[in-house]
Amino acid sequence: MHPAGNPHLTAALNLAAAGVPALPLREGKLPFGNCRTCAENACGGRPNMKRAGTCHCPSVCHAWAAATTDPSVITSPAWAAAWRQAAAVAYHPGGVALTVVDLDNADAIAWARATLPATRTVPTTRGEHWIYRGAMQSANAVRPGVDIKSRMAYARWLGPGTGTMTALPPAVLALVVKEETTPPPGQVVSSLPGRATWDRTVAIGCRHTEPYVRTGLDRGLALVRARTESGAASQAFGVARFLATQHAQCPGPCGLDALGWQIVAAAISVGVPETYAHRAVTNGLQTAESGAA
Ligand SMILES: [Zn+2]
Ligand SMILES: [Zn+2]
Ligand SMILES: [Zn+2]
Repeated sequence: MHPAGNPHLTAALNLAAAGVPALPLREGKLPFGNCRTCAENACGGRPNMKRAGTCHCPSVCHAWAAATTDPSVITSPAWAAAWRQAAAVAYHPGGVALTVVDLDNADAIAWARATLPATRTVPTTRGEHWIYRGAMQSANAVRPGVDIKSRMAYARWLGPGTGTMTALPPAVLALVVKEETTPPPGQVVSSLPGRATWDRTVAIGCRHTEPYVRTGLDRGLALVRARTESGAASQAFGVARFLATQHAQCPGPCGLDALGWQIVAAAISVGVPETYAHRAVTNGLQTAESGAA
């Protein structure tokens, strides 16, 4: 497909020429759905995904994992229909060793200005992207209105922005709780209450309806709360795994972290130690048949 007259395609080719993996987004700033062969992840997934598969599908499949720097792929017949319908362009920040701190609103921007070192910023519809040098694990809703987009994620391309890009600071790394991190005994995960709600704004890549997600979550929380301390952690693991599997075929993000925090809170409420609850839920989310984050 010829780039002339298609600004999204032109932007993607410019990104690719600069070494930045790009992909088209459809209406609603969401990735295009997988093709029939890749539906339900039947193909096994792309080699660059979390669970490396063998898929070499030429279509714009597997959300962020479709991002490429290869102009012959970007202009291929298999991508042409997507470009005709494209409503935006995205890039894969982790693929070019960058992290985007996605600030969704004025409050989030105010928090960043008070807390994070200055770097390159790009205005978005209601907020800003703060872009740092260095890649990290992605996570949604690490604070109200704040997402981290780096590895296994896409960010909307809205131009180069302004300001000098600086190195990923510890303050941003600390926003994402790592699976293997166990706080010392007695230390409280003080950010927990602020993260404890799921809503549609943290699930922009979710294919399910809000009632579907809420019903699944409420049933899961009830199962955890019905247990005594001894059984609740394994129940929390099972609920987390079940909920994450519900979203395995969504392009993501589905706000799974926010769902996870609510399961952690339910487990704590019946006496499971906080670090144990967090580990059980994190492991459950990551054990799911996955794709979505
Ligand atoms: Zn495919
Ligand atoms: Zn595939
Ligand atoms: Zn989903």
